[in-house]
Amino acid sequence: MSYANDLMQRLIKRNPHQPEFLQAAQEVLDSLEPVMERHPEFIDAGIFERIVEPERQIIFRVPWVDDRGEVQVNRGFRVEFSSAIGPYKGGLRFHPSVNLSVIKFLGFEQIFKNSLTGLPIGGGKGGSDFDPKGKSDEEVMRFCQSFMTELYRHIGADTDVPAGDIGVGGREIGYLFGQYKRIVNRFEGVLTGKGVTWGGSLGRTEATGFGLVYFVEEMLKTRGESFAGKRVVISGSGNVAIYAAQKVKQLGGQVVAMSDSNGYFVDEEGVNLDTIKSLKEVHRKRCKEYLALHKQALYYEGCDDIWNVPCDIALPCATQNEIDEQAAKTMVANGCIAVGEGANMPSTPQAVKVFLDHEVLFGPGKAANAGGVAVSALEMSQNSMRYSWTFDEVDTKLKDIMVDIHKKSYQAANDYGYSGNLVVGANIAGFLKVAEAMYSQGIV
Ligand code: NDP
Repeated sequence: MSYANDLMQRLIKRNPHQPEFLQAAQEVLDSLEPVMERHPEFIDAGIFERIVEPERQIIFRVPWVDDRGEVQVNRGFRVEFSSAIGPYKGGLRFHPSVNLSVIKFLGFEQIFKNSLTGLPIGGGKGGSDFDPKGKSDEEVMRFCQSFMTELYRHIGADTDVPAGDIGVGGREIGYLFGQYKRIVNRFEGVLTGKGVTWGGSLGRTEATGFGLVYFVEEMLKTRGESFAGKRVVISGSGNVAIYAAQKVKQLGGQVVAMSDSNGYFVDEEGVNLDTIKSLKEVHRKRCKEYLALHKQALYYEGCDDIWNVPCDIALPCATQNEIDEQAAKTMVANGCIAVGEGANMPSTPQAVKVFLDHEVLFGPGKAANAGGVAVSALEMSQNSMRYSWTFDEVDTKLKDIMVDIHKKSYQAANDYGYSGNLVVGANIAGFLKVAEAMYSQGIV
């Protein structure tokens, strides 16, 4: 049995009920096999055993009182996975599907993603099974305050710096920051995604979506293609999806479909961004309501079939495992030439294989969606300097970072004999920097 397989078997035994984490670990370990051959010193130093085990995992009770005066109890998580190259950094997810496996998969991926940005940030992730949907602002505030009343003792501007993710946007970051500041009596850059008037960075809201499109643009260039005139399908209609759609439009592409967890709509005239922003960002409404303003659009119940809508470029921006093998085959049959993962692990391993086998340009999430955390790290820099960059300064840095991530991933794939395979390339390029840091720092 190979070293990678043996390690994977041990990991399965130790984490039997964590399918998402095991899926993410398997993908990374498989693609690191050539590194294991070239760097036996990493095996001797136990780098691979150590990198798959979080440095610290915190699970806590989050009690709060709803608007009817009834006590509710949720579960909170923070997994501090790796601090080899900087403070733990990664978002908080509030969604009923959150459990330790989901948080560990996200935290594990974050190690490599953060390394790829070239910035000094380690990997972590957190969240809760709390569902903000349908809750009043007051309920969300009370929940966030209770969540932070435990979390504050584990985080800090130089220790662990959380941000947003699914279900955690500007509103939630505001309540979390307010409570942190109240408890510790310090105004510090302990969270990113803050409002721009109180320490946030211009461009953070747009960063993941814009960065995704910059990355896909680089992939397209390798085949002499661009976004101009392309049909684009984007799943989700949250933060990542909306700003990906905005940048696609700016680059001359046509976004024809978007979704939420209830269903998807198709607008052959091109998705109207003002409408979707107003529905989602201002009124917190459902995609279905798009039809009231755009009679030509069609709405379909259930979000899975969005991948049947023919497109040149697909940007999955909702959640993990939303594209399975069958969906991938349909996309290939419909002529899709590029897939950029805005979400984390939205394609199953079988779907990724279909894309790679058919030479679809494929940008894995840990590279393609790294723009969000990159600008979060720029927010940390600005907080440390007590200074703010303009939107254009941030956007230029973001673009440079995404171009560099593509270049590094592409080159690493080439160096290790996997030309054009950005899954392998991103994993190797992200891993090497962390592994070298761990090697230098001894057995810790
Ligand atoms: P949001 O909460 O803003 O939006 C999430 C969108 O995805 C919503 O449209 C939501 O629909 C849909 N969605 C969520 N869960 C499911 C599900 N189980 N099935 C179907 N649809 C679902 O989150 P973000 O846009 O911030 O995050 C989207 C993805 O991007 C996640 O995978 C996240 O980890 C990843 N990501 C986010 C970054 C960021 O900076 N925000 C950075 C890097 C990656 P509904 O409203 O109906 O729930």
